[in-house]
Amino acid sequence: MASIFSKIINREIPAYIVAEDNNFIAFLDINPLAEGHTLVAPKKEIDYIFDLPDQDIAQLFVFAKRVAQSIRKVVPCNRIGLSVIGLEVPHAHVHLVPLNTTNDINFAKPKLTFTKEHYAELAQRISVTFK
Ligand code: 5GP
Repeated sequence: MASIFSKIINREIPAYIVAEDNNFIAFLDINPLAEGHTLVAPKKEIDYIFDLPDQDIAQLFVFAKRVAQSIRKVVPCNRIGLSVIGLEVPHAHVHLVPLNTTNDINFAKPKLTFTKEHYAELAQRISVTFK
């Protein structure tokens, strides 16, 4: 069965997409740790990130770098942190989280919620800075 992220990639379920190319996609995490928390995934569905071929994992990180640069232009923060968890969704991805303190990327913290309008506007603002 297709992963929830493949359904997002195939536009079968909605997401606040901030960047996309032929091989990768980035969209806002629906249960964010911080405003601007974004997931970056390869379109090819592989469960475990460290099973990706070398070239794919290298390209994933280069794409994530470009997304992080865009988030940073929009969300005030010290820097963008990157984390790999993958315990919930079996489709390789990295988390990009705007950080001011170490605790900002503590996945045990309660998640934030924003309105649909807020997510949509944030995704739009990030996407227009994506290069
Ligand atoms: P992980 O697999 O890295 O442990 O966690 C998966 C992440 O994906 C979680 O932070 C969760 O909030 C996010 N997530 C799960 N389902 C969806 C979804 O349908 N849409 C979006 N945008 N994010 C999701």
